[in-house]
This record gives sequence, structure tokens and C-alpha cells, in this order.
Amino acid sequence: MSVPSVPFVKGWSFVQTLGEGTYGEVKLAVNDENTEAVAVKIVELKNATHLITSIKKEIAIHKMLQHENVIKFYGTRKEGDYQYIFLDYAKGGELFDRITPDVGMPQHHAQCFFRQLISDTGVEYLHSLGITHRDIKPENILLNENEVLKIVDFGFATVFRYKGIERNVNQQCGTPPYVAPEVMQNKPYKAEPADIWSCAIVLVTMLAGELPWDSPCLGCEEYANWLEHHIEFSPWTKIGTAPLALLRKLLTASASDRYTISDIKKDRWYKKQLQQKRRLSSPVGSPFTKKGMVEYENAVRGKNEVQISASQPEPGLVGPGVSDDSVGSLLHVSLSQPDQSTSMLVSTQFLSTPCSSQTALQRLVKRMTRFWSCKNTCDTLNTIKAVCKQLEYSVKQPTSMELTIITKDRRLRRLVFKIANVETSTQFTLVDVRLSQGDGLEFKRCYDELNKRL
Ligand code: ATP
Repeated sequence: MSVPSVPFVKGWSFVQTLGEGTYGEVKLAVNDENTEAVAVKIVELKNATHLITSIKKEIAIHKMLQHENVIKFYGTRKEGDYQYIFLDYAKGGELFDRITPDVGMPQHHAQCFFRQLISDTGVEYLHSLGITHRDIKPENILLNENEVLKIVDFGFATVFRYKGIERNVNQQCGTPPYVAPEVMQNKPYKAEPADIWSCAIVLVTMLAGELPWDSPCLGCEEYANWLEHHIEFSPWTKIGTAPLALLRKLLTASASDRYTISDIKKDRWYKKQLQQKRRLSSPVGSPFTKKGMVEYENAVRGKNEVQISASQPEPGLVGPGVSDDSVGSLLHVSLSQPDQSTSMLVSTQFLSTPCSSQTALQRLVKRMTRFWSCKNTCDTLNTIKAVCKQLEYSVKQPTSMELTIITKDRRLRRLVFKIANVETSTQFTLVDVRLSQGDGLEFKRCYDELNKRL
């Protein structure tokens, strides 16, 4: 999609693409003077008249929402064939970036995110207003700099209760691995249990780093196994008894048997105090302190046994804080980073010597799926192309600064991601890798593989 190059709001520029969806892109716009940042969702309406109604609905719903766990809506504007939606910029990146493929994240982090997602705040707030999201998944859950969870993308949201009168909803929408079985049945269904099911699948991905099934239909073996209580397989074997007991009550084929939010709040695991009182700013010390940097570099280069799960470059996290105990549980959790420093990869964005040359703008975008290369842009992209060829990924190069990689994930679904140079200093190139289409976890798997080979 080509976005108008001249920004229409004076004094603001688009500096980077943050993400993309089916019908458009989300860009980071920064105030030229004070580097204040907003996210701008840009939807191309040309040749897609059905979008006009759905975007209007998305805007109308998002406008109504004012909550700490829902991304703030600032305003909207239509210019030519483009609809622009201005949103608060979630500085902490995406939830799926915190999930290590096949591993997940420490249980107390998952519990903290799940609590934010489900009750008092996220989904409970939406339901209290009579709104259902209908596309809850880690890609639509962002984080701010304090690890506060922010729900985004109200493209499928709808009103299921108005003036106290509730209706069943009937549109089949969402993302197959996350949708509830009743949504697949082409019949009207109750809105609240369907959202709760999706939250439960998010919990599985956080605890196990993988999805349990492609979609919840009887033809899907993994789902059929779950219904028959065969839990001797992954992901269930990776999940502790207490959270598994909760999942049993959430992933019920019958929506009427499913736990409601008030049931979830009474659940033993949900209520359990998993977080320790003392917190460290990061598992091996903050990468921003000299000691933290040394420990961190050692960890990444395998000089000691410690690897950290942290996709959290910021010191002083206040969300799922890291306890002494959790350091132990973090030992096995891998980074989305190369294990060894190699000739080309220098480091991650926050570990890097080129840190001093980073501008405020790049520091605004926090992503684990980016790295510094010590080659120039052309050589860096050529090396990446060669590695993609080895991996049998198909590669397109739309501009001299970016690559589009197309492949299939483990479940043979289409996966597209973009690799772009976002900054070049005298010695280094900052390479940003972001998902374009497909599953977030599968994307991270591919990123890890690519990174390992680089
Ligand atoms: P889809 O086709 O999946 O429904 P969409 O076009 O509706 O996508 P969103 O899901 O709203 O777009 O956003 C796409 C991606 O853009 C997100 O996954 C996220 O990476 C990024 N993004 C969206 N909103 C923000 C924001 N406020 N701050 C930071 N990044 C954002």
C-alpha cells in the first residue's frame, strides 16, 4: 500500500511502520519538535466499499471506550481514499513478542497479563458496556512502557447488549485458532463466552508458547483429544496443574458450561499470589547498568547458563515484575536472539554498542525482532536473502531498503514478514523484522531460525 508521503498534519512525520493488517498499516507518527508519538492506523478505502461501513463501526465503538487497558482513541480523519485513525502509541510492543515459541513465559507473568486481560479491566470492561471484541489474540494485545496491557483492533467488535437487552451475535469472525467452537457453527452465539474462550487460548500460548489446535472443530485431532481428556500431549504437558484446571473450565465445548468472568475471579490459580514481593528490574540486572550489561552480554553469548526471557528492554518494569524465584524459572527460557555473537549480527537493539548513535525515534520502537548488523544495508540484505534461500523462503525486494519474505508455517498456513533497514549509522545497520500476515508465534519461530543462521 502506498501511503501519502507528505504528512497532512503540520509538524508531524511518519517515521516507521509499526504493523499491518488485512486492509492497511499502522504507522508511528512523531512530532518533529518534541518527539511526541502517536500510532496512526491507515486504511485504504479504494475498491473496498464494504470497508467503509466496518471502519465506521470500528471508529464508533472505539470512541466509546475509555479505559487503561484499551488503547486510547484520539481521533480520526478521512483524506482522499484513506481513513486515518489516531491512537495512543503502545511503546512496549506486542504481547506475542513476549512469548518464546514452544516455551511461553514465566507463569507469574502469564498470570499478570491474564488478569489484566480478563477482569476489572480489559474484557470485563468491554462486556460491561455491552461490547464484544471478537478477535482477541496476542497480536491484538499491546503493552505500554510499564507493561500495562492495551487491547487494540476493534475491527470485529460489536454491541451485544443495548439498554439492558442482550442479543446473540451471528457473524463468524476472529482468527481460527482463537475462536470458540460455537463461532464456527454458523448459528447465533452468545458474545461473552466466545471472548472468554479466546482469552483462554491466549493463556495457553503464554504458558506453553504454542497454540493447542488449528481450529476447534471435531475434524481437528488435537481438539478432539482435548474434548476426550487426552492431555498427555503438548501443550497441556507444559502447563501446571492449577492453570490447567482453570483451562478445563474455560475451554468447554458448551458455552453455557464455560466459566464466566466472575467464576474466573474465584479460581484458585487466578487468585494465587504468584508474584514475589521483591522485584528486580530485569532477571539478570538492567541492561542499562554496566553490571547488567555485562551479565546480559554474558547470558546472550552463552558465557553462563542464564538466558533471559525478557523482551523487556526497559529498566524498572512495573508489570509482571521479576522476582528472585523467577530467575530460576527463567533459566530455561530462550531469547529471540542469536545464541552467539556472529560476524554479522552485533546485538539486539538494547544491548548494543551503537546505542549511543540511536536517535530518540528508533528508541521509541521496542521489538525483540530487530537487530544491529555490522554490515551496510546492501550487504546486510544480501546476506539475509542468502539465508532465506537456504531456508527455502521466497523473497521479494520491493525497495533497496526492505525485503518481503513469504513462507508457510508449521501448520502450512501462509506467513509473510517484512525485513527493513530502519537506521544506518556509520558502522551499523538496524534491521527491523515484523509480521505482515500469519500467526505471531509462527513468525517468531521463523525469526529465531533466521537469526540463528545469520
Ligand atoms: P487485522 O487485519 O489483523 O485486523 P488491522 O489492520 O485491523 O489488522 P491492527 O490489528 O489494529 O490493524 O494493528 C496491526 C498491528 O499494528 C498490531 O498488531 C500492532 O503491531 C501495530 N499497532 C496497532 N496499533 C498500535 C498502537 N496503538 N501502538 C503500537 N502499535 C500498534
